[in-house]
Amino acid sequence: MGKRGREIVKLDVELLIKHLNKAFADEWLAYYQYWVGAKVAVGPMRGAVVAELMEHALDELRHADMLVERIIQLGGTPILKPEDWYEHTNCGYAEPSKPSVKELLNQNIEAEQCAIDVYSKILELTKDKDPVTYNLALEILEDEVEHEEDLQALVEDMMIAKDMY
Ligand code: FE
Ligand code: FE
Ligand code: MG
Repeated sequence: MGKRGREIVKLDVELLIKHLNKAFADEWLAYYQYWVGAKVAVGPMRGAVVAELMEHALDELRHADMLVERIIQLGGTPILKPEDWYEHTNCGYAEPSKPSVKELLNQNIEAEQCAIDVYSKILELTKDKDPVTYNLALEILEDEVEHEEDLQALVEDMMIAKDMY
């Protein structure tokens, strides 16, 4: 990492890298949870749900990319093998074993709520101490808040559609 870039980080860099790697593991698992969920989804409003799940999958992959860039900038090593994702994840992985859209939406809402907590904590940790990571976590948090909202809106639309039958 650039010398000055590292000097302005006023917290334990190793601890910060650890948190970023944990979030990195979450993002890969979230990516796959959305991606494979979109493939197996069945039920009402499938088209709309699949489009939203795929869009979110790509956002999670972009988050993984943002995190890995920062981990490397800080002189850290990103998690290098998928089996380690499970060891480090905060939010885990919800297997879409019941692929009804309702089940998928609820699993992903739970994952988004966990992600919101994770980035809120990284914001607390980096506030006034590491503006670059703070800004990155804020950008990701904005997406996660939008994700939760989008999924919740789909659930509500499904409820309305159900009443209209
Ligand atoms: Fe994400
Ligand atoms: Fe998300
Ligand atoms: Mg969306």
